[in-house]
Amino acid sequence: MTDAHAPDMLADLQAELAAQGRTIAQLQRARDAAVAANQAKSRYLVGVSHEIRSPLNAIYGYAQLLERDAGVSPVEAARVIRRSAEHLTNLVNGLLDISRIESGVLKLSRDLVPFPALLDQLVEMFRMQAEAKGLEFRFTTEGRIPACVRTDEKRLRQILINLLSNAVKYTDSGHAAIHVRYRSQTVDVEVSDSGIGIAAEDQDRIFEPFNRGAINDRHAQPGTGLGLAITRVLVQIMGGDITVRSTPGEGSTFRVRLLLPEPAEAPPETARRRRVAGYAGPRRSVLLVDDDPAQLAVLQALLVPLGFTVHTAGNGAEGIALAAMYRPDIALLDIHLPDMRGWQVAETLRVQGGEGLRILMVSANAHEFAAGGDGGSAHDGFLMKPVELEALLDALAAQLRLDWIAEASTGAGPEQAALAPPGSMVEAAPFLAELRHLGRIGHVRAIGPKLDELEHAVPAAAALSARLRAHADGFDLKGYLKILEGHGHGE
Ligand code: ADP
Repeated sequence: MTDAHAPDMLADLQAELAAQGRTIAQLQRARDAAVAANQAKSRYLVGVSHEIRSPLNAIYGYAQLLERDAGVSPVEAARVIRRSAEHLTNLVNGLLDISRIESGVLKLSRDLVPFPALLDQLVEMFRMQAEAKGLEFRFTTEGRIPACVRTDEKRLRQILINLLSNAVKYTDSGHAAIHVRYRSQTVDVEVSDSGIGIAAEDQDRIFEPFNRGAINDRHAQPGTGLGLAITRVLVQIMGGDITVRSTPGEGSTFRVRLLLPEPAEAPPETARRRRVAGYAGPRRSVLLVDDDPAQLAVLQALLVPLGFTVHTAGNGAEGIALAAMYRPDIALLDIHLPDMRGWQVAETLRVQGGEGLRILMVSANAHEFAAGGDGGSAHDGFLMKPVELEALLDALAAQLRLDWIAEASTGAGPEQAALAPPGSMVEAAPFLAELRHLGRIGHVRAIGPKLDELEHAVPAAAALSARLRAHADGFDLKGYLKILEGHGHGE
């Protein structure tokens, strides 16, 4: 080796060092990203565990009280248990939604949606929640709003509910608003509020799953941090876009733009928003196959009063035998059975009962979803567990071509009662006085049951109660009392 090679070697060495430096920087960035993702995931898991724990505690507590015959009203206990179960269902559905969307399984349906009715229903729901917090709720439209649009109703509703509930949740004073504009088959919805706002650096990441705004460290609002992530992916797969503008301390505006074509046909009559008493025509029979006796009992309790004959089986073999004996009109098959897969039962029943027998698969696992009814599969449809009455009625009507008979209206019937809940915030005053007292003396354990009483007596106070509960659960009595101060003094 001669000295003449020295400059070359030096250059090589420098190049090598520079390359290594770049690799190290890349590795560091990758490591930082992995650490951040991990931290986000841990934060998320803590959030989810917290979310799961409170309703589970309520279910557990009330079940024990009932077991001990401790004098609690069974109706009251059932109400708390049902509400808690609903909350858990929402959480699980949220998680499933994300995984379904991420794995590309989610299918959009194309429903004919009575758009003004859907808006009215949402506005009614959120006006109540906003007023319970002392907020003004504004609903405005611009231009002509079509009587009917074609879209996936459940998803559209989910998008708007997520945005509206955030607007109310993250606003302590002032207003929450929804403004709807429709033009050239496209809807623009602006959901705005005069709330806490979102810091500029958070405005992108709040749309990511597992991310809640930094603001939540201080405000400790209940939530899963999944709402906006689901909202954005839904808007995207529906071919739209969503943007946010916000000034911390002044408020936020979320804007969603969606293609919402107006169909030529009129909306169909559905079982929705009417209480069904039965159906026209001959009596139909239903075979239920599920190894969970509770699930069988619930479905049976829903179907028998509507005039169906119901046969139940706890496993596949029993189901097949009952079908041969009773020749049901429709079978609802759980996919997970102790002796065989529900799919196998479906195939056997199809051979046995031919096309005349309608078959619905039922599962709690969205990954198993297969629409069916395409001629190539043994089943005709799919229902998600827990089965919602409306979805069940729609599926039965579609499969058996049923016409529902509505319950006779008695003037102030149950529907009206549901829309205009009994109990205004005035009636909440005595409860609020007691809650204030409990907060001042620091009797945290008594606050939960008192909030249950409040929600029971004054449904309009549900949102207020939820906020109080979040603070009491976190032992933040200062925040708790501050909210109560904002609600006048009933003493
Ligand atoms: P969650 O409300 O359950 O945390 P979301 O995904 O709906 O989950 O929202 C993510 C975050 O975005 C929230 O934690 C909150 O910090 C912020 N955020 C959403 N909407 C608003 C709003 N209207 N005003 C202020 N912050 C909001």
